[in-house]
Formats: sequence, structure tokens, C-alpha cells
Amino acid sequence: MSEDCFICDKHKGTIETAGEKIFEDEFVYVGHIDKGDRPSYLGHIMIDLKRHAPGLGDLTIEEANAFGQIMAQVSRAVKETENAEHIYALVSGNSVAHLHMHIVPRYPNTPEEYWGPNEVYSWSEAPFGRNEDIIKVCERIRNYLEENKHEEF
Ligand SMILES: [Zn+2]
Repeated sequence: MSEDCFICDKHKGTIETAGEKIFEDEFVYVGHIDKGDRPSYLGHIMIDLKRHAPGLGDLTIEEANAFGQIMAQVSRAVKETENAEHIYALVSGNSVAHLHMHIVPRYPNTPEEYWGPNEVYSWSEAPFGRNEDIIKVCERIRNYLEENKHEEF
């Protein structure tokens, strides 16, 4: 835990974010991105490490196992439930020094000039939504994970 960390606060439940929690265990927390006042790109999922540590190089083996598995499961879920044709994954950390990975879908018919985890946001036909749409995305992904949790990778 760290003071003044948005992600730690989110895990503690002291701040609300858009949508609903998708998954949580002792190592990872999964939810939808929240763009505040602006609509969110639907299907943009955040996988957070539960522990306050800055980057991928700080993961313990146990955390890395958990992080890798949920990364694969969430990516598959977004492809299946949201009809994504490709999944981008990105760790930036420019704004918060608490490890979180962006899982960003690319939807069918996205013009090539908008290919990329940031670029997809600029496509005028990309699906954006507010809280009620985000809740539906979260529910679909959570249900998929529930139904496929014993799947082997
Ligand atoms: Zn933190």
C-alpha cells in the first residue's frame, strides 16, 4: 500500500471507477478503464498488480504467474465477448508508479492508420460508452472468465 496512489485506493474501494470489478484475487485486480468525464473506449481493460510495485521487473514469480495467466484469459475474453480482432497490451506507468497493464482491443474494420493501442482511440467509428455500457462489457467479460476458469493454457 502507498499513500496517494490511485490504484491502491481503487483496490481499497475508497474511490469509485466506471463499470464493475471483473476479477480479483490475491495478486491481480481487473477492471475497465475510466476516462472520467469523457466516454471510454469500450473493452479497454486494466490489469493491476495488487501490490504497490512499479513495473514488470518487480514481479515475484508467483505474481508473474498470476499476471501472465490473467493477461491471457482477459485477452481471450475480450476477443470472444467483444468481437475484437486483435489485442494490444501496454505497460506505460508514466502517470502512476503502480504496475497496471492496458489491454486494448482493436475492432474489425479499424482502418490501418488507427492500428495501435493509442491510435484506435482516434477512429471515428470506434465504440465509446459511458458507465452503463461499461457495466455491460464488464459483465460479459466476468461471465466469460467464470465459465472458462478451468481452461488450460
Ligand atoms: Zn499503489
